[in-house]
Amino acid sequence: MEWEISLCDLDYGAEEAAAVAAVLQRKWLTMAEEVNGFEAEFAGSVGVKHAIAVSNGTAALHLAYLALGIGPGDELIQPAINFVAAANMTLACGAMPRFADILALDEPTLDPAEVECLITSRTRGVVVMHYGGYLCRMAEIRDICRAHNLALIEDACHAVGAQAENGTKAGNLGDIGCFSFFSNKNLAVGEGGMVTTNRDDLAEKVRRLRSHGMTTLTWDRHRGHASRYDVAVPGYNYRPDEIRAALGRVQLRKLARNNALREALSLVYRHHLDSRPGWLVPFARAHGGSAYHLMVALAPDEAARDQAGNALRAARIQTSLHYPCIPDFAAYQACRERDLPKSREFARRAITLPLFPGMSAEQVEMVVNKL
Ligand SMILES: *Cc1c(COP(=O)(O)O)cnc(C)c1O
Repeated sequence: MEWEISLCDLDYGAEEAAAVAAVLQRKWLTMAEEVNGFEAEFAGSVGVKHAIAVSNGTAALHLAYLALGIGPGDELIQPAINFVAAANMTLACGAMPRFADILALDEPTLDPAEVECLITSRTRGVVVMHYGGYLCRMAEIRDICRAHNLALIEDACHAVGAQAENGTKAGNLGDIGCFSFFSNKNLAVGEGGMVTTNRDDLAEKVRRLRSHGMTTLTWDRHRGHASRYDVAVPGYNYRPDEIRAALGRVQLRKLARNNALREALSLVYRHHLDSRPGWLVPFARAHGGSAYHLMVALAPDEAARDQAGNALRAARIQTSLHYPCIPDFAAYQACRERDLPKSREFARRAITLPLFPGMSAEQVEMVVNKL
């Protein structure tokens, strides 16, 4: 289907093309100077000591869990309203996800009171997800994690550039942060990801596990800096490449401007939608600065949501659902121990509307009129 207005659109141009051309000219495609540069610049933008680039956001989550020692018998408390990767990687480590409800329909992030309810002797950590780019209640959740000696993992895939009231960036609000640079994210390279942390021990483990557990890199051996390697712990190949890293560096330079454009468009949407009876736009009161990744509205009920989705589709306007409630997936049958009433109502009423930096205010009005 040829969309009149698609859900998202890349901000790609001559700078991205030049960055890729420069990599091709150098004829070195695997991890080297572009990856090092991207990591250093990303670490600087988040304000963390370490940023480790990886092949995608799911790999970032997997390595974050493994670096923290999450394994069989462990439990990770996490939101039921999330992309499934955080839960899938929990199972991949042999651990169990424990799904917590959201705070409220107008604040669909992890409820700190729910987190406290779910803590058992097996709980090893809490995964937060900054839904749509809006930060979770980090101060409260951090206090709970400290009191119970739990690791705090940020699934910051929606939140690149978001910051708390005191200016601390998403990815620097827990023990370890995970980002995705998939093509629909605020910083897009196609397939890519990043792990951020201030902890030297975690950074070292993530670096090793990213590349088969090997103690030296191809690049270092190529430059004659090393010739032998050992494998201390068996690892993976979750490496990024130079082309994607070069794209990431250009996109990082555009991020602040593009997030500001997203903010302005979100305000136009909110202005128009706030007056619709029965409709609700979450995050009227934000905790800090959002990355404005998604424009989500709640219809009065499921029928109205489906009707709105159909009307927009007929007008060739793309919509989506972020997200179904994870325990409702077949693979998560074993995790249906709790009702999660707010998460389920959210999944029934939510609709994601088009939002991207190159969108016009007129396009926003078109979407709203078709609703
Ligand atoms: C995109 C996304 C992921 C997964 O990232 P990939 O790069 O696609 O592997 C995980 N969690 C959230 C919240 C996401 O939006």
